Amino acid sequence: MPERRFLPTPLLAGYALYQIPYHCQFAIECRSCGVLKDMPREDLNQVSKDMSLKELSPRFRCTLCGEKNATIMAGDWANGAPER
Ligand SMILES: [Zn+2]
Repeated sequence: MPERRFLPTPLLAGYALYQIPYHCQFAIECRSCGVLKDMPREDLNQVSKDMSLKELSPRFRCTLCGEKNATIMAGDWANGAPER
């Protein structure tokens, strides 16, 4: 499995979901166990398109450790190797 890293755009965390450009990707990071996963936009839409990522984050539970201690970020997934 190739390494990936997520390049967050912190500014977008305060925007309502519907205001975030559609090309943006999402990731959810658990602050308890450190796992970082894809967050499909559809899953966020199901909660509320009017809420910001900061407001949505506490609604999600980590699938690995079960803690409700998540940070949802908008940005881009990149391959592990730095660009040259
Ligand atoms: Zn966790």
